[in-house]
Amino acid sequence: MANSCDIAQLGADILRQVAEPVADIHAPATRELIAAMQGTLANSQGVGLAAPQMGYSQRIIIVASRPTTRYPYAPLLAPTVMINPRYDIVSEQQEKGWEGCLSIPSIRALVPRYLNIVTHYTSPEGEAVSLPLAGFAARVFQHEFDHLEGKVYLDRVETTLDIVAESEFFKRIAVSAG
Ligand code: ZN
Repeated sequence: MANSCDIAQLGADILRQVAEPVADIHAPATRELIAAMQGTLANSQGVGLAAPQMGYSQRIIIVASRPTTRYPYAPLLAPTVMINPRYDIVSEQQEKGWEGCLSIPSIRALVPRYLNIVTHYTSPEGEAVSLPLAGFAARVFQHEFDHLEGKVYLDRVETTLDIVAESEFFKRIAVSAG
């Protein structure tokens, strides 16, 4: 079983490639990849994961917002596997918020994201699903979707001044929580 040490790190070519659409969601290889992603995410403190981070150029993400040591303020959203996802922007309104990435350890940054989106994807059971997401969950989705486009969150910061060491990030949220 993969663990967080096996997650592709910034600089790996796979993180900069546009991922391939999943042609057969019921193929054994697809099911095995989804299971490996679920295991990796459960064993990490992350709130989402994309197949390219596992070394596979496939359009599969998991959005799993939950409070963890990495994201203590995250709201709860059951881990949701999304195959061939896309999204519509409900309004142009964006908000800057903190993000990190299992592929970019020890760094956090403020990233502008759309506040309200409607996602469309195929579930592992083959259902076509439309799911509105707002706030932090919408942020996680847009972060993971970017991985399918060969982008990482650092590409979207407005200024390098919005990039901080993770240790400083935890000091800031400790202050804002206290
Ligand atoms: Zn990431």
